[in-house]
Amino acid sequence: MRNKLASLLQKIERARIAYSRHQIVKLLAVSKYTDTQSIEALYACGHRAFGENKVQDLSSKKQELACLPLEWHFIGNLQSNKINSLLRSNPYLIHSISSLELALEVDKRCEREQRVLLQVQSSSLSKNGVDLESAPDIYREIQKKCQNLKLQGIMTMGVNSVNPREIEQAFGATKDVFDSLQKDGATILSMGMSGDYEMAIAHGANLVRIGSELFRTLAL
Ligand SMILES: *Cc1c(COP(=O)(O)O)cnc(C)c1O
Repeated sequence: MRNKLASLLQKIERARIAYSRHQIVKLLAVSKYTDTQSIEALYACGHRAFGENKVQDLSSKKQELACLPLEWHFIGNLQSNKINSLLRSNPYLIHSISSLELALEVDKRCEREQRVLLQVQSSSLSKNGVDLESAPDIYREIQKKCQNLKLQGIMTMGVNSVNPREIEQAFGATKDVFDSLQKDGATILSMGMSGDYEMAIAHGANLVRIGSELFRTLAL
């Protein structure tokens, strides 16, 4: 685990420096494939931020590891009948606010301020999220209407393509939208997974969500 984390951090560091020495890139370890033991192992290496894509998994793993000071992120598709249960587990950041309607629903049920990201569709090939063109308007609409939500930036899934140019184009377009939202307070660009995080960092991602590259061998 320690070696895996070290080699991943080294690759992230190399990509970061190639982009800009002033860039800070945060690693979110996506623990959806793994159990609490490997989360504890990563914690012992100094890692603190973990992501889950199912409400139930987030709340059970968080509960089981309640004695550790971990930062839990929710990155999955959020169904409206799961909102209360997600909020009860008090996630540090919800990456997957994928429409204005969902934002309004989550806002209505919040009992405290909740950090969120707006999920955008980086290309017509990716599924969830608001399209890039309407993203800035929706972002500002959420800021205006949702008093309980602390919108901190945007998240995207990228595209599942063998053509690197398609992936880069999607990341580049998402970065442009992120840049246009910086004056509205956006600071987080959550973009890049195991297969494409170096490319994402080259296009300005400052939070990468990595699952399989970290936990792959443990599943064997
Ligand atoms: C699973 C998942 C990841 C991590 O994917 P890997 O390819 O395993 O690194 C990142 N983001 C989201 C939203 C996911 O569901």
